Amino acid sequence: MKALIIAEHAAAAAELVAGARTMADEVVAISFGGAYECGADKVLNITVPEGLTVDSAVETVNAAFDAENPEVVLVEACRHMKVIAGSLAFHADTAVITDVTAFEAAGAKSMYFGGIAERVQKAAGNVAIYTIGAGVFDGAEGANGSVAEQEWVAPARPVKVVSSQVIEKSGVNLFKADVVVAAGRGFAEESQLSMANDLCDKLGAGLACSRPLTEGVNWLPTERYVGVSGLMLTPKAYIAVGISGQMQHMVGCNRSGAIFAINKDKNAPIFKQCDFGLIGDIKDVLPAITAAL
Ligand SMILES: Cc1cc2nc3c(=O)[nH]c(=O)nc-3n(C[C@H](O)[C@H](O)[C@H](O)COP(=O)(O)OP(=O)(O)OC[C@H]3O[C@@H](n4cnc5c(N)ncnc54)[C@H](O)[C@@H]3O)c2cc1C
Repeated sequence: MKALIIAEHAAAAAELVAGARTMADEVVAISFGGAYECGADKVLNITVPEGLTVDSAVETVNAAFDAENPEVVLVEACRHMKVIAGSLAFHADTAVITDVTAFEAAGAKSMYFGGIAERVQKAAGNVAIYTIGAGVFDGAEGANGSVAEQEWVAPARPVKVVSSQVIEKSGVNLFKADVVVAAGRGFAEESQLSMANDLCDKLGAGLACSRPLTEGVNWLPTERYVGVSGLMLTPKAYIAVGISGQMQHMVGCNRSGAIFAINKDKNAPIFKQCDFGLIGDIKDVLPAITAAL
C-alpha cells in the first residue's frame, strides 16, 4: 500500500510519516518551501510562488496525487492543509475523515459535537483521506529516500496575499511542552498573569489560555488559546487555572495525560472533567504552589 503525506510543518510531516509506516509500505510526503527531513521514501517539494498562499497549491497537490496514486492520504490538521484536503477529496471523488485522534481496527476515531462525543469511521472508497492533529503519532526527523520538486500548476482561482506581518512568538512551543499552564477569565486583570508565568518558570511549562483572554481582552496572543477553534494540545499535564471548563475549551486539552484544575467555584464544570481539582482563589493558590515547588 502507498501513503501520501501532506503537511505544512516539518514536525507534523515526521509524525505522519511515522504513522503511515504502520499502514503502508511506501510513503511519499509533500512538503512546502523546502524538503522536510521526515523519513519518507520520497519527498515532493512544492514551491509556492511569492504572493500566493499555501492553499493555492491545490491543483499542484492534485497532480502529485494523480501521479502517485496512493490508497491512503494523511493530512496535517491545520487550516491551510484542511483546505487542500477538501479540494483533494473532491478531485479524488472521495470524502475526508477529519481530526482523527486514533486509528483502531474498526476505523479512524475522531471527536464530534465539538468534542463531547467520539465516533469511528471507515472510508468506503478506493482512497482514504484523513486530517490528523499533533500528537496522534510519535515521529522524529529522519533521512528521506529521495527528494524531487513538484512542478507548480497555476490555480484557477488563486488567493493573493495583500499584506502580511510576522507575529513575534515567545515562550515554550506549546505542542512540545510536557506541562501547560492555562489561564482563564478567573484572572481579574492582566497583571495577575505574572502569577501564572511564575508557575510556568518553576515547572518549565508553557503558558496557554482560554479564548476570552485573547479575543476578549487581548492579554495574550491568539496563538496561545486552547479549544475547538484554537490549539489542540496533548501535554503530560494540563493545569487549568480560573477556567470554567466549557466544552469549547476542554476539547483542546482533554487528551492531556492529566488535567489539574484550580477554581474558586466548587460547582465549576471543570471539576467534573479534571483528574485533580483544587478549590481556591488564584491569588492564594498560585503563589503558594509556586513557593512550595
Ligand atoms: C463557536 C465558539 C467557539 C469557541 N471556541 C473556544 C475555544 O476554542 N477555546 C476557548 O477557550 N473558548 C472557546 N469558546 C468560548 C467558550 O464557550 C467559553 O466562553 C470560554 O472557554 C470560557 O473561558 P473561561 O473558562 O476562561 O471563562 P469563564 O467561563 O468566565 O470562567 C472563569 C472561571 O474562573 C473562575 N474564577 C473566577 N475568579 C477566580 C479566582 N479569583 N480564582 C479562581 N477561580 C476563579 C470562575 O469560577 C469561572 O469558573 C468558544 C465559543 C463559541 C461560541
